[in-house]
Amino acid sequence: MAAVLQTTIAGSLPKPSWLAEPVALWAPWKLDGDALTQGKRDAVRLALFDQEHAGIDIVTDGEQTRRHFVTTFIEGLDGVDWEHKRTVRIRNRYDAAVPVVVGAVARRHPIYVDDATFLRGETARRVKYTLPGPMTMVDTLYDAYYKSREKLAFAFAEILNDEARAIEAAGVDIIQFDEPAFNVYFDEVRDWGIAALERAAQGLRCTTAVHICYGYGIQANIEWKKTLGSEWRHYEQTFPQLARSTIDQVSLECANSHVPIELIALLQGKDVLVGAIDVASERVETPEEVAGVLRAALAYVPPERLYPCTNCGMVPLPRDVARAKLRSLTAGTAAVRVELGS
Ligand SMILES: [Zn+2]
Repeated sequence: MAAVLQTTIAGSLPKPSWLAEPVALWAPWKLDGDALTQGKRDAVRLALFDQEHAGIDIVTDGEQTRRHFVTTFIEGLDGVDWEHKRTVRIRNRYDAAVPVVVGAVARRHPIYVDDATFLRGETARRVKYTLPGPMTMVDTLYDAYYKSREKLAFAFAEILNDEARAIEAAGVDIIQFDEPAFNVYFDEVRDWGIAALERAAQGLRCTTAVHICYGYGIQANIEWKKTLGSEWRHYEQTFPQLARSTIDQVSLECANSHVPIELIALLQGKDVLVGAIDVASERVETPEEVAGVLRAALAYVPPERLYPCTNCGMVPLPRDVARAKLRSLTAGTAAVRVELGS
């Protein structure tokens, strides 16, 4: 039987400097053609090596094959114009030039299925594959066609479901949808966001997860966090709805944040991926600090449902910092496992 407190990561890890510019989001590739294809795969092997040597139980591909967690997926779809970008305000926080939806969106071919198959073949550990969530996809585009965030979200949800079923068939154990937008648009989460997420996960037999965070450690997010006050209660609105949903796991931010830990009690019946590693700081947590977050969480979540995790993706961090954080995550977890007699 597997030990309790199975460790995992939110998804991304930094890329090697020969593949993309370090410490940057949306960094362009440094290779092209076959060299890029091979380079991405070598980077996945390194991401697996780093996770396995740190002792992470449920591993990902470190998102080494994508430039961005949302737009790389959208690049594979019909109905989107990449030539004439429009600037929009993303998550009510920062402006970015984004592609425009100009027609019905459609998935003519698999997007990450080959990458997921490769990942499955490279490790004996359980693997998680991440996809963007429908609401976050809508929030990363300009829509000149559907003129309805809800309609576009459900169009994306159907596409995501086709992709997720194919990724499941490749042997992936967990499929996670990333929905940072769930921490911003609470009325929409209630009105159609959860339903769109469930549509994306419909019929999947593998474990399903949703990741909801306060964003990468980029300046716009750090400034936003400063405005949120001493108690971040955003999860209080979404967790009861997620507890009633079909999604199995919820990945959330805890480390070094102002999220009151007792809010995770609202996720009763779900697996809780508790963020015990801050991705917005290059300071490496001590194992004791990780253990402290886990002990606090164990007051509200049974050990078999608690998964030590990172707050968010680690792609913007230096690689040595990310590796050290992985080791602290597993060392802190090991200490708490001993206390639990596991
Ligand atoms: Zn995140």
